[in-house]
Formats: sequence, structure tokens, C-alpha cells
Amino acid sequence: MQDDSIFDFDELNEECGVFGIVGHPDAARLTYYGLHALQHRGQESAGIVTTNGEKFHVHRDMGLVNEVFSSERVSQLIGSTAIGHVRYSTTGSSVLANVQPLVFNYAKGEIAIATNGNLVNGDKLRKELEANGSIFQTTTDTEVIAHLIARSSADTLEVAVKETLNELVGAYALLILTNDQLFVAQDPHALRPLAIGKLGDSYVFASETCAFDTIGAAFIREIEPGELLVLTQNDGMRVTRFSEPKETSICSFEYIYFARPDSDISGINVHTARKRLGRQLSKEAFVEADVITGVPDSSTSAAIGFAEATGIPYELGLIKNRYVGRTFIQPSQELREQGVKMKLSAVRKVVEGKRVVMIDDSIVRGTTSRRIVNLLREAGAKEVHVRISSPPVKNPCFYGIDTADRDQLIASNHSVEEIRQLINADSLAFLSAEGMVEAIGRPSEEKNRGHCLACFTSEYPTKLYEALEVEESV
Ligand code: SF4
Repeated sequence: MQDDSIFDFDELNEECGVFGIVGHPDAARLTYYGLHALQHRGQESAGIVTTNGEKFHVHRDMGLVNEVFSSERVSQLIGSTAIGHVRYSTTGSSVLANVQPLVFNYAKGEIAIATNGNLVNGDKLRKELEANGSIFQTTTDTEVIAHLIARSSADTLEVAVKETLNELVGAYALLILTNDQLFVAQDPHALRPLAIGKLGDSYVFASETCAFDTIGAAFIREIEPGELLVLTQNDGMRVTRFSEPKETSICSFEYIYFARPDSDISGINVHTARKRLGRQLSKEAFVEADVITGVPDSSTSAAIGFAEATGIPYELGLIKNRYVGRTFIQPSQELREQGVKMKLSAVRKVVEGKRVVMIDDSIVRGTTSRRIVNLLREAGAKEVHVRISSPPVKNPCFYGIDTADRDQLIASNHSVEEIRQLINADSLAFLSAEGMVEAIGRPSEEKNRGHCLACFTSEYPTKLYEALEVEESV
């Protein structure tokens, strides 16, 4: 699976990454670096809001972090507390109005919100709010959250935030900033990762720990499900809860594909987990071959694991061209085929005349897999055996991952043998769900070891409200 828009027709996309810091004289610049580290989680837009305790300073725009922020822009964002966001839109269209952090003025002052995830009752709440007179300016769930907070009759903002969080169902790793407080919340299932770090005396928050490494912060812990942290510059951090924790259900795809290999989730390094996925895959679906290659970059770790376990050499059979335009558009079939060739090359000297095992992390619609298999064949591969380091994706995600509708997911409508034929492979095998959970290696006391597996098993960790009704009526 690829990570650029050239493959948008056949990929899973992460929705967002969030970053926050409290009490640092260089808050905006550190947030810029933090967002840079989280860029893989969203490439459509970026934004930073800072406060000096009196007013917000805001810059948000469409584009990559380094396109949105010049050094001068960052310097203008004064204040010692900041939140930032990178976004790939799934809920809400790609327009400037939807770029986070969203900023609102309400009766008690300014409020800025940055979220990662997706509410399954977002539309329901929006309709209820509209029926009671709310007027929306964006199409995001984040604005729903702002309206709920603004309409609360609670005496304090903290109580209003807690009441609001208890209305939400779905995935949300959430930062809420005012001029004197930062609230940090994790949904009761902890579907999306969110961690606390420390840089000197400053608390730092990020979707992934790789952002801490980038700015030199030390990891402290992950935000627990149902937890609400309240931070002020003078009083430090207070830990409270808005909900009892429910069964932890971190998105399995964070380990399989989304998170950066140098991030740790629940103390498990992502690269190491992917290597174990590759090892497990080799146990479940060994095949005689001459070389192992991974679809770069996200499948490289699993391919190394497969090679280590089997003794078959790992080779760079596929090379990624990093300089293909991010916004390249491929309206026709012919141009899409060309797009894959621009993006990936097969190394003829490595694969020619060889039996190749091609490791990929998932198959969504199957179109990209077929093109990559064909690239290897055109470069002279004698056999191409495809091994997938996750189970077949059969169900859509409602928690912030842009999968596809069920009828577009190839594994929802085809057997493994049918998929093999469609992608033109000599053999095809997927990792089992049990093998995947075992290989990732999260603590064993929880059922399913604390993973969301819904896109494989259809066991969604929350009620789905209208999301499933819409899906089923398609
Ligand atoms: S449904 Fe799949 S992609 Fe969505 S949160 Fe669950 S495991 Fe992740």
C-alpha cells in the first residue's frame, strides 16, 4: 500500500495527527517540528494555534507542513502554549474552512480544537444541534464538539468539556485550547494513539512518539482511555476522567501501516512489530522462493521479518521514486498505469528469472497490487507470490480511516483465490487475525489484546448509529 495521492484509488488513509505543548518559549517552532514528524498522518492541510495567555495567534492552510509554514510565519505565532494539526480529510471536504485546529469565539472567549479520529454519531449530533438553532460553518465533527461545549450550561469549562465528551461516540484523540487552559482527552476505547512527553518543564502531546524524538522530548506515557488532562501554565497538569475506560481497541492498522516505524505504541516499537508480522506470515504461508521484497516503504519491515525467518534473502526488488508530485492526478486508466511506473520501479537485476515473494501490508481494492505484480513480471520475475501482513480488509472503517465502501473492498466480495487471479499472482496468502494479534504482542490480559479488528472481523468496538445504516443501504 502506498502513501501518496498517486495511489488514492487504492489505499487506506489516516485522517489526522495532533501535537500540543504547554509552557515553552518556542512553542510554535516546536509544534512545527512536531507536525513535520507527523506529516505521514495527513498531507492535505496543516495548522497551528498559539496563545500568549491573552489571545490566539492562528495560521492554517492547505498543503504540507513546510508549504503552509515559512520560518517567518512560525515566528509570528507568539505564545508559550500551542496546538497543531495535520489532516487528511475523510469527514468534511478538503476546503480551508475545515482545516484544523478550528477556532471559535463563544460566550466565554476563544477556543481552538484539534482532533484525530471520527465520530460515529457526528451526523446525529449535528442534526440535533441544527434542530435547536445551531448554524455550522464547516462540515467537520470538530465543529460539532465546539457547539456542544458552547451550548453547555455548566459553570466551568472543564465540566462543559466532560459533558460534551460523554455525548461523543467513536474515535477521538482531542486537544482543546483556551487562553488559559489546555484539555487533552482520549476516547474511552483509545482507538487512536495519543501520548504525553516532557521537554524540560513543558508537557508535550502527540499522536505518535516519533514527534517527541524529533524535538528531544522524553516519552512519559500514553493517555488512558476515558482520561481528561487539564493543563494550565502555572498549575501544571491535573489528571481527571470523563468516562470509565472501555475495552481498549487501538486501531490495528496503526501497527500494520499508519504509524511511523520509529514510533512506539503501548511500548511496542512499530518497526519491530511489523518484523514480527512478517515472521508470523512466513510461518502461516511459507513458499519456496529466491528473493523476498517489500512494497516500499511501509512493507519493508515485514519483508525483513519474513526473510529473517525463512533464510531467503531480502532484496530491494522494488524502488520508490520519492519525487513524484504529491498532487499528481490520474484521470484515465492509462495514466494510472503510468502513475504506478512513475512511483515504483522493479529492479530488473534483482528479480529477473527469480521466484519473488512480494510482501505488502494490505490489499484494499486490489488495483495497485495487480499493477505491482505486473511491474515485477515485466522486469522478468519468473514467479510472483504475494504475501499480505494483515488479514483481508472486508469491512469499512468508521473511526477515521478512509477505507472504501464495502462494495469496493476486494476481499469483501471475492475469495482469496479470486483475488489471486485478479492481481495476477502465482500465489496469495493473508496473515490470520489471531496471528496478527499474537505477532504485534500487546499485553495479553485484554480480549483481542486491545486491538480494534473491525475492518477484518466486523466486530466494531462501538455502536455505529447512522454510519452502518448508510453503509448497508448502499
Ligand atoms: S476498523 Fe480497521 S482501520 Fe478502522 S480503527 Fe478499526 S482496525 Fe483501524
